[in-house]
Amino acid sequence: MTTRYAARQPQLESLITTLGEPAYRARQLYEGLYRQRRPLDELTNIPRVLLARLADELPLAFTVDTMQLADDDTTAKWLWRAADGAQIETVLMRYSARATVCVSSQAGCAMGCTFCATGQAGFERHLSAGEIVEQVLRAQHASPQRVSNVVFMGMGEPLANTEAVLDACTRLHDDLGLSARHLTVSTVGMVPGIERLTEFELPVTLAVSLHAPDDALREQLVPLNRRYPLAAVLDAARAYAERKGRRVSFEYACIDGVNDLPHQADALAGRLTGFRGGAHVNLIPLNDTAGYPGRPSDGRRIAAFADRLRAGGVEATVRRNRGTAIDAACGQLRSRTP
Ligand code: SAH
Ligand code: SF4
Repeated sequence: MTTRYAARQPQLESLITTLGEPAYRARQLYEGLYRQRRPLDELTNIPRVLLARLADELPLAFTVDTMQLADDDTTAKWLWRAADGAQIETVLMRYSARATVCVSSQAGCAMGCTFCATGQAGFERHLSAGEIVEQVLRAQHASPQRVSNVVFMGMGEPLANTEAVLDACTRLHDDLGLSARHLTVSTVGMVPGIERLTEFELPVTLAVSLHAPDDALREQLVPLNRRYPLAAVLDAARAYAERKGRRVSFEYACIDGVNDLPHQADALAGRLTGFRGGAHVNLIPLNDTAGYPGRPSDGRRIAAFADRLRAGGVEATVRRNRGTAIDAACGQLRSRTP
């Protein structure tokens, strides 16, 4: 059986035919679910009996374990449970006129980054494209603002589950009408995945998680660096920027005394050269996780780091943390029932 948001338009059409209903019902169903982004039971132009039938035929992939709010209710985090018991998390961040959804691409993560709660918990399974689309739509159902941006920055390494993630991007673009540059795929540096993304038809935004200006330090934080060292990751990212004509962004979790020193900013700026459109670094103060002893850099240290990057010709912004109170901030997702 297919789940509600795994079914694409042709499958909805054949389901409607199987149920002996007129073809225009399939169009109403598709437009209601995707164009209008409404929950199934609110498609009031479809008769109640048929809606009940459809709810049975097209079950949701997830039930809600918990939903928590923070930041004056502008940040929401869901812990979902799939039929096989896998748990994943999704975060909705609402702004005045729009909203961003941070989706998970895997239950857990096999990459083992030392400072990340998801990495500390290990890998459970890949998510399907339908499960990724469901996260976006169910967050949309709770948001008065239109979801305009989707970031693959929840649990998991999207480019270790590349085909499902690209499939989900296609569907978010085609079915929900999101613009490709408002879809951000964040990777820890899976070079073959970045190459695959370079061939992908949609010019989505690529974000690469760096966290260190050199291999020696990066290996300690990001085990994958042993397989794909910085130079290879940056070359793949340069090729992406070149092909798509899009600026690549970089994530850098600032850890007190570990990767936030002035000479490290200079070294980082020195490596981020030759990017079409320039390079842009997002500095994120480290968020607390149970398994890593490092502390976040203080605000002044991060501001100084950003200044030195700018002096070296690299754009830098300091990211405001959302959702720390409910463990919904970067790196804090780990599918544990609170
Ligand atoms: N696996 C992908 C995407 C999910 S992680 C990746 O690593 O890019 C999303 C972002 O959160 C990444 O930039 C990651 O490095 C960052 N992150 C992980 N743990 C963090 C922590 N404890 N504090 C701040 N950022 C963290
Ligand atoms: Fe996985 Fe990203 Fe966490 Fe690393 S930072 S363990 S790649 S989710």
